[in-house]
Amino acid sequence: MQQKYKGEKKRERMISNEKELGRQEATGACPHCGGKVAAVDVERRWKLCFLPLGFVVKRKYVCTKCSRRLVLYS
Ligand SMILES: [Zn+2]
Repeated sequence: MQQKYKGEKKRERMISNEKELGRQEATGACPHCGGKVAAVDVERRWKLCFLPLGFVVKRKYVCTKCSRRLVLYS
């Protein structure tokens, strides 16, 4: 089954740090250029007044050709 993607809206500006844990090829194609999509696992650290609040591991999708961030379209 082909996955559909759309461009990610600008948001989450408060995220202070993202660390890439790994990436793998995802199914589907970029809606902007038709390039291949990579699924990237990132570790996001949250900080408040220099106090670490912990971190979450999230999966995001990025086009390998035009480097745009994508979200799964459901
Ligand atoms: Zn693209």
